[in-house]
Amino acid sequence: MSRIDLKKAHFSTLCVHGSGGVDPATGAISTPIYQSSTFAFKNAKHGADIFAGEQEGYVYSRIGNPTQTALEKEVAFLEQGEASLAFGSGMAAISSVILSLCKSGNNVLSSNVLYGGTHNLFMITLPQYGITVKEIDGTILENFEKNIDENTTCIYIETPANPTLTLIDIAECAKIAKKHKIPLVVDNTLPTPYHQRPLNLGADIVVHSATKYIGGHGDTVAGLVVGKREYIDRLRGEILRDFGGIISPLNAWLLLRGLKTLALRMDKHEENAMEIAKFLNFHPKVKQVWYPGLTTHPQHELAKKQMTGFGGVISFEIKGGRKAGEKLMNSVKLFTLAVSLGDVDSLIEHPGSMTHSTYSPEDLESVGISEGFVRLAVGIEDRNDLKDDLSQALKKVQ
Ligand SMILES: *Cc1c(COP(=O)(O)O)cnc(C)c1O
Repeated sequence: MSRIDLKKAHFSTLCVHGSGGVDPATGAISTPIYQSSTFAFKNAKHGADIFAGEQEGYVYSRIGNPTQTALEKEVAFLEQGEASLAFGSGMAAISSVILSLCKSGNNVLSSNVLYGGTHNLFMITLPQYGITVKEIDGTILENFEKNIDENTTCIYIETPANPTLTLIDIAECAKIAKKHKIPLVVDNTLPTPYHQRPLNLGADIVVHSATKYIGGHGDTVAGLVVGKREYIDRLRGEILRDFGGIISPLNAWLLLRGLKTLALRMDKHEENAMEIAKFLNFHPKVKQVWYPGLTTHPQHELAKKQMTGFGGVISFEIKGGRKAGEKLMNSVKLFTLAVSLGDVDSLIEHPGSMTHSTYSPEDLESVGISEGFVRLAVGIEDRNDLKDDLSQALKKVQ
C-alpha cells in the first residue's frame, strides 16, 4: 500500500506514515475506530473457513479487530519484529507472556528491579499458580548463568529499570538465553523502540506498557507484545482468546495517534530530561541522580552501546529522606504529583510509598530505593519552566 520505500525510511517517517498507509477498506488516512464486537460472514462456508484457519477474516473483537490490527502492524514494524499483539494494559501483556511460557512447576529468571506491579505478579500472584520467579541482580551477568535450572523457561528483564534506571546488557543476556534455549523477554517501556530495539540485540519477545510513551498523553491504559509470528499467533490463539485481556478499538486508535508523534516527543523528553538531570546533579540538596545520559551514571557506557537516546525518566535521592521528599512533592506547581510516566505532562512521585510499595522494606533497600528516592517523568513543557519549578520547590526543603 505504501508509496515510500519503508526499508529506507527513518524512524520518524515510519511513525507518521505507518507500516502500510491508509485504511484498506475505505482509504481513510486515519484508521477508523471499528467499534464493533462481531463481524458478519459472507456465507456459512466463509464463517466455517475462518474458524478452521483456512481464510483470513475478522470474527469477534476478542480475537481481533481492524483498528487493533493496524496498531499491531505498526508496532511490529517500529520494533522490527515479525508480529505484535495488543492488550488492555501493560500488566495484561506481561502476565499473558509469562502464562504462555510457563506451566505449573516452571520458573522465571528475572532481574530484580521491576515495575512494582510486575514484581507483585512475580512474587505474590504467580507462585499461587505454581510458577516461581527468581529475582536476581541483573547487572552481574553470571547471576543469570548461575540460576538457570532445568525448569527455567524464560529470562525476563526490564532495562532501563523503573525506577532506578539500572541497565542490563541485552545482547549478553540474549547469548545466555540462546545457549540454554529459552526465550529472553524485555520490558521496553521506558526507552520505547525509538531509543532501544531489543529484538535487534537478540531478545525474543518485547513487552510494553503502552500507557506510557507510546500512548504519550496520559489518556489510555494499554499493553503490547512483539515477537516472532508463530509465537504471537499462539499468544493470540491461546492466552488472549482464553483470558480475554483485550484492548478496546478506541484505545488502539489512541495509540495509533500517539505513535505518529513518538519520535518528536521522545526527542523533547530526552532534551528536557538531560538538562534537568544536570541541574539536579549539581544541586546542593540532592544526594545522587540516576539518569543513563549522565556520564556519572554507573552504566553510561552500556547505555551508549545499546540505546540511541536516554529517555525522559530521572530518579534522584534528596538529602533529608522521606520528609524532604514529601516537602518537595507538595511544593512543585508545574510537575503533577502522580504515578505513571511518558505523558506530555511532567510527573513526580515517591516510588517507595507509591508505584513500588509492593516491594518489602528490605527489598526496597537492596535495590537502592531509599526513603528520599524521588522519580521524575519529565514532560515536553519548556525546560526552563520545569527547572524553575524544581528550583523553587527545592528551596522550600529544609
Ligand atoms: C507502567 C508499567 C508497567 C505496567 O503497565 P500498565 O499499563 O500500567 O498495566 C509495566 N512495566 C513498566 C516498566 C511500567 O512502567
